[in-house]
Amino acid sequence: MADATKPEPVTGYCVKCKTKREMKDAKEVTMKGKGGKTRMAMTGTCPVCGTKMFRIMGNKK
Ligand SMILES: [Zn+2]
Repeated sequence: MADATKPEPVTGYCVKCKTKREMKDAKEVTMKGKGGKTRMAMTGTCPVCGTKMFRIMGNKK
């Protein structure tokens, strides 16, 4: 399959499963932090247990 429109999977840590998983319905969000800084983060849900997952996309390398 060559589906170029498919979003790349985002992994996050599920606190309930205590393991890393691919986020379901991953969304990019911006968070306002101290000093007016904005941070990029990803939110999604665990495909297994449905717990909300969160990942800060802080450090750019
Ligand atoms: Zn889970």
